[in-house]
Amino acid sequence: MDYRKLLHIPQKCAAKLINHHLSWLGFAATLPLLGTATAFGVAVGAKETQPEPVVQQQVVERLALPAFRFEGSQARYWRDETIKRGDTIARVLNRLGIAGKDASAFLYNSPLAKDLLKLKTGATLTVQTNDEGELFGLRFLQDDDNGEQILVALEKKDGQWQASADPVAAQSVETVRSITLKRGAAAELAAASIPADIRNQLEQVFCDQFELASLKPGDRINLVYETMIYDGVSIASGNLLAVSILRGGQLHQAFYFAHDSESGAYYDGAGKPVKKGFSRQPVAGAKISSGFGLRKHPVLHTLRMHSGIDYAASKGTPIVAPADGELVKVERENGYGNMVMIRHNPKLSTLYAHMSAFGKGIKAGGRIKAGEVIGYVGSTGRSTGAHLHFEVRINDQPVDPATNALPTPGLSRTQLAQFDAKKQTLSARLDLLQSIPVNVAQID
Ligand SMILES: [Zn+2]
Repeated sequence: MDYRKLLHIPQKCAAKLINHHLSWLGFAATLPLLGTATAFGVAVGAKETQPEPVVQQQVVERLALPAFRFEGSQARYWRDETIKRGDTIARVLNRLGIAGKDASAFLYNSPLAKDLLKLKTGATLTVQTNDEGELFGLRFLQDDDNGEQILVALEKKDGQWQASADPVAAQSVETVRSITLKRGAAAELAAASIPADIRNQLEQVFCDQFELASLKPGDRINLVYETMIYDGVSIASGNLLAVSILRGGQLHQAFYFAHDSESGAYYDGAGKPVKKGFSRQPVAGAKISSGFGLRKHPVLHTLRMHSGIDYAASKGTPIVAPADGELVKVERENGYGNMVMIRHNPKLSTLYAHMSAFGKGIKAGGRIKAGEVIGYVGSTGRSTGAHLHFEVRINDQPVDPATNALPTPGLSRTQLAQFDAKKQTLSARLDLLQSIPVNVAQID
C-alpha cells in the first residue's frame, strides 16, 4: 500500500485545521508519531508509483545520524531528543547545547502556543542544527486531544522563523528486515530497532495461532513494512505489509490486503483470514469514513495521524460492544465528548467517542456483553458532524482497529485475484531476505 491512497482527509479534519489561525497553518505541518525519528541509511528517491521490477537498496549499516545537507561550508543535521517529564522546548534545546532563543520566543508568542507546547513525555523532539549549536529547524509531534497527532514544524528561512509554505515531501518506502533469533523475540526485535508499532502489530497478527514469546533461538522472522520518510529522515512507520515466521521448522505467513482506502486485514498465502477478530462491528453496516494512520491534507499539505477509525452514521444510531468486556470509562472528555472505554482483556481495550448519549445502565465498573448497546452516535466533543470515532488500544497504544480487532472479511473472487498479485510482489521481497546476509535492507 502506498500513502497516496491516504491523500484525502475527512472534511471534519479539514474544518478543524482551518479553525486554527491561518498564519500558523503552514508551519503546523503535521506528521504522525509512530516511531522515533531515528535515521536509517536510506536512499530517499521514493517513487510516486510502485514500478516493477523493484530496485533494491541494500543498507549494510545503520547510520548514527540522519541524512544531512551542506549549505555553504556548514553541515546541518538533525538530532533527536526524547521529551522528559516537565520538559519545555527551551529546556530541551538547552540540554542539546543549542541556542534557540529566537525560536523559543517565536513559539511562545504564537497564538497557538498553549496548544502547541504541550510536549508529551516520551515523544521525540527533532532539531536541525550544525556543529556550532545553531538552530535551523524544529519538529515535534503533538496530541490534539481528539485521537489525532500533528507534527509541529518550524523552519528558519533567510534568518526568519516562519511557516514553511512548501508541500510536505513525505514519502513511503518499503523496509524489509530479517531476524534470526538468538534469544527471545521481543528482545531481538527491539535490538534490531523494529519500530514499536510494527512490533505491536506483529504480535497481534498471529495471536490466534501462537505467541511471539514462544519463538525459540534459530527461528526466523522476515518483515516488510512501510517507512515514512520526511525530508530525508525516517519519521514513522506505516503498515506491516508482510511477515513470514519460521517457527520450529513451520512457516507462517501473513500478507496485508487493503479492502479499500480506509481499511485492510491480514490473509495467509491462500487468502484466508489469519485472525478471527471480534465477531461484530460497533456500528452494524456503517461505512468507514476515515481509516487509521496517516492522512495528508490536500490543501494544507499537512500530515496527521488518525489514531482510530471513523464510522459514518447518523445521530442516534446504536453503538454496540463488539466483544465482552469491562466498562473502564464512561465519561465526558473535552476532545472525545461522551466516551466509553471497554477493557476486553488485560492488553486490549476499545474506545468510543462523540456519542450523543450513553446506553441504558452503562456505568464505569460494570460488565458488558458483545452486542449490548453502549451508546448512540453523536457529535459531542471536538467533532464537526455525527460519526463514531472508534479506537483499539493494545497496552494503551492505539493500533489499527481493522487489522487488530474488527472481524476479518473473507475475500471475494475479484479481491482474491488482486490479493494474489499483491502477495506475489510481497513474497518476492520476503524470499529475497533469505539470501541477504545483512539484516537491514530498504526497497526504494
Ligand atoms: Zn476519528
